[in-house]
Amino acid sequence: MRHVIIGAGPAGVIAAETIRKADPASSITIIGAEKETPYSRMALPYLLHGRIEEKGTNLRTSEDQFNTLKIDLINARVDKVDPPNNKVILDNGDSVDYDQLLIATGSRPYTSNLDELNSSRVQSCWTLEDGRKIMEHANKGDDVLLVGAGFVACIIMNALIARGTNLTTIVRGKQMVRSMMNPTASAMVKQWCLKEGLNVLTETIIDDACIKDDGKIEVNFNTGDKMDADLIIVATGVQPNVEFLEGSGIEVDNGIVIDEYLRTNIPNIYAAGDCAQGFDFSTGEQTVHIIQPTAADHGRVAGLNMTGHNSRFQGSILMNVLDTVGLISGSFGKWQGIEGGESAELLDEENYKYINLQFEEDRLIGALTLGHTGHVGVIRGLIQSKVKLGDWKDKLKEDPSLFMHAYLAKTQAIGHNAGVFG
Ligand SMILES: Cc1cc2nc3c(=O)[nH]c(=O)nc-3n(C[C@H](O)[C@H](O)[C@H](O)COP(=O)(O)OP(=O)(O)OC[C@H]3O[C@@H](n4cnc5c(N)ncnc54)[C@H](O)[C@@H]3O)c2cc1C
Repeated sequence: MRHVIIGAGPAGVIAAETIRKADPASSITIIGAEKETPYSRMALPYLLHGRIEEKGTNLRTSEDQFNTLKIDLINARVDKVDPPNNKVILDNGDSVDYDQLLIATGSRPYTSNLDELNSSRVQSCWTLEDGRKIMEHANKGDDVLLVGAGFVACIIMNALIARGTNLTTIVRGKQMVRSMMNPTASAMVKQWCLKEGLNVLTETIIDDACIKDDGKIEVNFNTGDKMDADLIIVATGVQPNVEFLEGSGIEVDNGIVIDEYLRTNIPNIYAAGDCAQGFDFSTGEQTVHIIQPTAADHGRVAGLNMTGHNSRFQGSILMNVLDTVGLISGSFGKWQGIEGGESAELLDEENYKYINLQFEEDRLIGALTLGHTGHVGVIRGLIQSKVKLGDWKDKLKEDPSLFMHAYLAKTQAIGHNAGVFG
């Protein structure tokens, strides 16, 4: 059996390892477009911070892991998938035949018109190569402009500050981390950043930018403010890598459409990770998640099913835990709530602590937290188990910080708390 995997990120690598375990004799090939040993994008903030070296970003510590497991790595971009002929076509003109194919091509940042400047001082922060270029221009005393204040922008702020840069962040709208927070939490994150010495400019966009003689970039904002930037990092969101599937017959919506077995509409083609639109148990919808735990879960289940198992994907939950310059926040499931649902809130603005819980009838369906750590497993557990809270709902409405007690009371009562902590 020839297993071919497009994408050398966590989804692709975990799928390959799962296949090898389940099917020791098959051939496995991973095709990855980046000239790197398979690595984790999640490790980039640590690299920028100087906490790890480049090899610390590798997904597997032993460089020999892929040889040992007889997993072939091809460095090329897949330009086309040809399902009738069970072939993928590479950008170097070669083609690779498959019996089972996994598409795990992840996502990529949106481009901006700053790309027209064609300067290495304008960067995304998505690939290892981006990280290298950022490190060239983000050093002590450098003026760095971060465009966007979403998950990735916030997660790299710490590293940029640790590198000694003067950091300015601009956001088009009124809110930082809008995709994972309500206005209350978002305002607290902004206040925290200002307290930590960051320059955060909301309702601000770049009107125009040009390269100066010294290579720096002169930026004029819509507000009349201006700055000379040694580096601009554009972090305004990402989109799934699916364009190369055009004309292949593989169904794409917001991401590649997959069923509960991670299979696309073509029976021997699977999809996993950031490029796939998979089942979210907290919303009951098919969603593109763009988080590593979902990519890992997808990879495992797809790998199993590619070897003939019939493993049903239980679904994932959109769960973002973010460290913004030391302030830990978390958003879980339907944190926005639902029409007709109920909510509970505990706000301690002075100490940067906040909990917002969202209920549907007497079940927890979503949550936002700020300044609380060590709660991830409990909240995930309460949402995932869909446990009926009964009178604990009223107790939580009175004091939302009791979620740990509610979890213990309810899950111990029905005896399924195993494996949720941590
Ligand atoms: C700075 C940063 C911090 C992050 N922090 C977190 C975090 O704290 N928590 C979290 O859950 N998530 C985090 N993420 C997101 C997380 O990294 C992704 O969700 C995860 O990498 C998705 O894994 P994947 O395997 O689906 O895709 P990717 O890791 O993106 O891998 C996709 C692979 O496909 C390859 N590829 C793409 N197109 C082609 C093609 N046409 N042909 C061949 N190969 C192709 C790519 O080169 C890559 O090897 C972070 C991301 C970044 C950038």
